[in-house]
Amino acid sequence: MNADLSQPTVLIVDDEPTNIEVLAKLLQSDHRVLFTTDPAKVMSLAEQKGPDLILLDVIMPGMDGYELCRLLKQHPVTRDIPVVFVTAMGEEQFEAIGFEVGGVDYVTKPVRPFLLRARVRTHIDLKRKNDLLKRLASLDGLTGIPNRRTLDDFLRQEWHRGLRHKTRLSAMIIDVDFFKKFNDYQGHQAGDHCLRQIAESLSRSLERKTDLVARYGGEEFVCVLPETPLQGAIHTAEKIQLGVAALAIPHPHSEVAEIVTLSMGVVEVIPRRELKPESLLTAADRLLYVAKHCGRNRIEAAPFEQELP
Ligand code: GH3
Ligand code: MG
Ligand code: MG
Repeated sequence: MNADLSQPTVLIVDDEPTNIEVLAKLLQSDHRVLFTTDPAKVMSLAEQKGPDLILLDVIMPGMDGYELCRLLKQHPVTRDIPVVFVTAMGEEQFEAIGFEVGGVDYVTKPVRPFLLRARVRTHIDLKRKNDLLKRLASLDGLTGIPNRRTLDDFLRQEWHRGLRHKTRLSAMIIDVDFFKKFNDYQGHQAGDHCLRQIAESLSRSLERKTDLVARYGGEEFVCVLPETPLQGAIHTAEKIQLGVAALAIPHPHSEVAEIVTLSMGVVEVIPRRELKPESLLTAADRLLYVAKHCGRNRIEAAPFEQELP
């Protein structure tokens, strides 16, 4: 996976348009430059546009740059955008505040063009490497879909959303049938290729952007479907089953079909305080076990309360 090579975006915030002009001129040849003179607009701009760096003035009417930086650092979406203060206030105690509130650098006006460009370049470079590391740490190395860690975070987050809004949350565990035999007879490389194809097909089968599919381990995958009742989850499970059947990956040693098939446990819950998010997966796993015992290549589904037939 490569680092992001697109032109970096810099957001300039200064109540004085001529200052913005000076900075924009220095950066526009190799950056996409966004700007605003209104500190009240910065949070929403930063959230929507996701700049790679923010150049921030300190003294502005309404809200000063320090306060704004604190807000940016508190918000999960904008927290990782590096903030460089650009200000006339060169005294040490002001610089110290700039770093205390979460700035990564402090440049004094009038800016020295070479210095400003060099620092901007350094911080953007670091930010992009950090982004890449975070992405790599969140994905499964074999299939490129989210890994177990991402799944755990996502499930916890959606569980809490469900608690707050009393909405239904569905999950399914998907397991490849007789996959050991697939590996034994067709080789581990073919097995890996098969898992990649399945992961791709699962991703295609999920309809909503808010759904997540992750590799749970070995030849098991998990889907989490927020705000989805059991019927919707079953519909998705059927779509997944059809999607993988359409791949028609030959599996001559499977005891249920000529091609690779899946067994699935699907469960729905309205989150409650006395339950743990993982209990949803435990329930889905029990249903998967039932699906295996009832012959494989099938979907077993139930609401959480009665998950065992
Ligand atoms: P069942 O229908 O009951 O699920 O049988 P199974 O053979 O699929 O189940 P089992 O859990 O016994 O075997 C899972 C096999 O999946 C073991 C291993 O050969 C294979 N496997 C697990 N992870 C990987 C992987 O990353 N790559 C490959 N190629 N194979 C894997
Ligand atoms: Mg398994
Ligand atoms: Mg299996």
